[in-house]
Order: sequence, then C-alpha cells, then structure tokens
Amino acid sequence: MKITEIFKNRPKGIAFEFFPPKTQNGKIALAQTVRELKKYNPLYMSMTYGALGSTQERTQEATYMLLEEKDITVMPHLTCIGTKSEAIQQLLEQYRERGVENIMALRGDRPQGVADFDFLKQDFPYARDLVLFIKKYKHFCIGVAVYPEGHLEDISFQAHMEHTKRKIDAGADFSVTQMFFDNAHFYSFVDTMKKEGINIPVLPGILPLTDIGRAKQFCSTCKVSIPAAIENRLSRYADNSSDMAKAGLEITIRQCRELIERGHKQLHFFTLNKPEVIKTILEAIGL
Ligand code: FAD
Repeated sequence: MKITEIFKNRPKGIAFEFFPPKTQNGKIALAQTVRELKKYNPLYMSMTYGALGSTQERTQEATYMLLEEKDITVMPHLTCIGTKSEAIQQLLEQYRERGVENIMALRGDRPQGVADFDFLKQDFPYARDLVLFIKKYKHFCIGVAVYPEGHLEDISFQAHMEHTKRKIDAGADFSVTQMFFDNAHFYSFVDTMKKEGINIPVLPGILPLTDIGRAKQFCSTCKVSIPAAIENRLSRYADNSSDMAKAGLEITIRQCRELIERGHKQLHFFTLNKPEVIKTILEAIGL
C-alpha cells in the first residue's frame, strides 16, 4: 500500500527505520526485531541504503524479507550519488515487480576522500533529480529527507529551503526529518515549510538517546545540535552506561510526548535495529 494512503486513514502512528544486516546472525536478529515491532502496527517500515550503493544487495534482500512478513508496508531507501541511471532503473523495475510501492529518494553523502567530487557530473546530482526519475514510473509513493537545522553543505538556510521546496515540488509525497534533539527546531521548520507553500506530511525523525558519546558522533557528521542541558545531564553518567540509557530514554520519551501534544502524531524512529529501546519508548508514549 502507498504510505500516503495509510497517512490518510491513520493520523496517529509510528514508523520504523532499520539498516540491512551484514551477517547471518544479524539477519536472524532483524527478522526477530521486525516480528516484535510489528505488534505496534507501524505505519510502515523502511530499510536504509549504504553510501554509493554499497549495501544495494543487502538492502534489497532485507526489503524482501520485510515484504514476506505480511501486513507490513515497506519502503526501501535509495541513494543516487555515484550511480548511473541504468542501474537505478533496473533496481526500480525489480522493486516494482516485487510489489514495492514506496521509495525513500535520497542523494546520499559526498564520497569521503574525494576532494574535487563534482555533483554536477553525476547522472543524478541531487535528490530532486532522483525524485523526477522515480516519478516517471507513476507507480511509487516517494518520501524525501528534510533537515530542520539545515544540511552541512548549505550556503545558507534560505538556499536550503529553496532546494527543499524544489525537491518536494518535483513530486515528493511526504518527508521525514533528520534527527533533532530540540523540538523548537522542528516546530520552526514546519512553520517555514508552510510559509514556503510546502504542504506534504512531515514526520519527525526520532533517534533514541541512549549514549551521548554516540549521539555526538552522529551529530558531528551532519548539522544536528545537542542542547547543552541534555549533554550535561547525560555526561554525568559517563561511567554507567545503563543509567545513561535510562536518563537518555526519559529525554526521548519527553520529546515524543511533546511532539504528540503539539499534534505531530506520526513519528519515524531510527531504530538502529534495537527493539528493546523502541519498545520502552512506545510503551511510555502509548502510540
Ligand atoms: P539533497 O536533497 O539533494 O540535498 C543535499 C544538499 O544539497 C543540501 O545541502 C541541499 O540544500 C543541497 N542542494 C540541493 N539541490 C541543490 C542545487 N540544485 N544546487 C546546490 N545545492 C543543492 N543516507 C544514506 O546513504 N542512506 C540512507 O538510507 C539514508 N537515509 C536517510 C534517511 C533520513 C530520514 C535522512 C534525514 C537522511 C538519510 N540519509 C541516508 C542521509 C542523506 O543521504 C544525506 O543527508 C545526504 O547528504 C543528503 O541527501 P538528500 O537526499 O537530503 O540530498
């Protein structure tokens, strides 16, 4: 089913993002995680795609595993940077044949260690170009990434919003945000989107905060800030990972509750393939 159809019928709900496992044990664990989280009746489950297509086969395999679990709406992610249009076409045709109806269309990060990498020499310089390509199929519901605090490559936030609008106007059906740890960024971004005339659904992307060191590491690779109050509170537990996780989850639960109270009742969780953490949050927020 197309995710936008689900949104129309279910104004409240959660979605789960997974990454494709590398090992046989990882595959078994993911299958178990999916079965456990399926009980929460997710809006959809999505599967990430490695930089430069590095996980293409694993993403496909894990996506098909999700499809075999009946009653789940599935969305593979697809990045286009460094990929020829023929390869993208082939992959999309395979997905269509297997019954995939939703794609998260992304550009992907600049390849590491290539100083003079030229986006404009690529078949798909930006995610917008991938959206236009997928749109031609008239088959897929298309999700895109959006960034409440902007993106590392932006020259300005205003330029970022112009690019975001052009990407969405190219045919995106809904969007999922980059993680954020201060809801004010999300509220302000949603207001800006509305002012720009962007009216597609925007799902807040939630990263459960279980380890401040790891969260800081994630944030150093993208433009996401961690409020000092959160960093100070969690850093106190530097020597006790279980207390840190407990305090961090309290923060995530509060974040989710505030979003729900403000009317944002469809949340996208970056699960990191860890069901226990997600279950704790879901039991607390009751979605
Ligand atoms: P774009 O929308 O193309 O934007 C990238 C940058 O280019 C932005 O700064 C934008 O303002 C700028 N820009 C856009 N158009 C133009 C233009 N015409 N001229 C100049 N600048 C322009 N990465 C993965 O590798 N695999 C995944 O599975 C994955 N899943 C993700 C899921 C979510 C919810 C999010 C938020 C991110 C995900 N990412 C993933 C990360 C994403 O690939 C990176 O953030 C990437 O750097 C940008 O991808 P994009 O699709 O947002 O690109």
